[in-house]
Amino acid sequence: MRSPIHEYLTELLQSCEVVQGGAPASYIPELAEADPSQFAIGLSAVDGAVYCAGDAEVEFTIQSISKPFVYGFALEDLGPEKVWDAVDVEPSGDAFNELSLEPETGRPMNPMINAGALATHALLLPGGGVDARVERIRSGLSALAGRELEIDEQVYHSEMETAYRNRALANMLRSAGNVDLEPLQLVRGYTRQCAVRVTTRDLAIMAATLSNGGVQPWTGERVFSARVVRQVLTVMTTCGMYDSAGDWLSTVGIPAKSGVGGGIIGVLPGQAGIATFSPPLDTHGNSVRGVGVFERMTEDMGLHLMSVPPPARSVLRDDGEITTADGGRVGIYALQGAIQFAGAEWIARHLEQFPPESPTVAWDLSRTYSVNKVARRLLLEIARGLEDDGRTVVLIDPDGVIADPVIGDGRRLRVVDSLAGIVGEEALRVPAYYTSPSVDTPTPDVTTVE
Ligand code: GLU
Repeated sequence: MRSPIHEYLTELLQSCEVVQGGAPASYIPELAEADPSQFAIGLSAVDGAVYCAGDAEVEFTIQSISKPFVYGFALEDLGPEKVWDAVDVEPSGDAFNELSLEPETGRPMNPMINAGALATHALLLPGGGVDARVERIRSGLSALAGRELEIDEQVYHSEMETAYRNRALANMLRSAGNVDLEPLQLVRGYTRQCAVRVTTRDLAIMAATLSNGGVQPWTGERVFSARVVRQVLTVMTTCGMYDSAGDWLSTVGIPAKSGVGGGIIGVLPGQAGIATFSPPLDTHGNSVRGVGVFERMTEDMGLHLMSVPPPARSVLRDDGEITTADGGRVGIYALQGAIQFAGAEWIARHLEQFPPESPTVAWDLSRTYSVNKVARRLLLEIARGLEDDGRTVVLIDPDGVIADPVIGDGRRLRVVDSLAGIVGEEALRVPAYYTSPSVDTPTPDVTTVE
């Protein structure tokens, strides 16, 4: 069987081919020569399975799509304070090449406009030269792409010939004391950063590395910490699409970044990285067909991050009581899925309303695949409360989803791999496993999610 995703992307590409309008970026002579008919879509699942349609192997320059990644490199290399001191995170609503600095602090508004991207670039390898900074960036982008990326010398030289605006920005930053590099050196480094060549396939896996919390799915290399990914995605969400960020968030609703080379990346956290390529741009500098593809995908696939997910009440799959081989009673609560705040809160409420009667309480986590920080804390607090009430809480946790279950005062919950570890093999021959009927889980009001 061929995955229907291939068909879907091909059909999507064809249906968006009718979207006309826009023109390749003309302020960089080499980009003005781009073939406007080239068109590609790439989608990478979070585990690195990539699906492509159209001209996905055609190379083009990354341009501003480098900005969120370089912001991530700066956060990794220098830490958040130094980066924060240099660049703010406020959407500007200005054009990407606006000559502006925040009046109060004198910082560029955000790292996605050119002023902020230049200041971010300048942060890397303090004391290093242009080549060292560019190599830090080229190799970092290569780690994200899972292959060695190269710089397009022709586009670089072409852009340098007309980079008057960026030179003005670099001079502005230098004169305001934001950077201490020679402005022309800064523009050279930044322009080389923008001239790194990528394919749509590359961009899809680079975006998927962000979706995957910073670990490149093919190589397993952790390129960004989870905290850095969160910050990068935040800035992409508020500032990624030039001065149409609000429009984009309303209609598409996922963190994204576009570049004047015609590329766009979108990141669906925890699920997928998406990339498009089509050189004709709209007046904001975003690829016209790329925007069309993302708008359609949001409709078809329900990408919008502000769509409300179903309530998390179904974390309690079942509960019941079982008798051990020696006649003891164990109340068993089978939990499932990914437990976050809402799920743990629901468990706490359920146990408050229906306190377990048995002396031993077992939480079966064998079908629970993750417990986040707040849920872990809540569950351990609940366990502590139950133990303080004279119950013994045992975790059936073969995969260690609640590692090191310490509940304070030197107490630690007992952990077993299976139910047999609590009740003994003998009791498992008793047909009743979870003897009581299914827990009365309220039917969620919201059953369909866009
Ligand atoms: N190198 C381009 C510039 O600085 C990047 C702009 C973009 O992709 O938005 O003008």
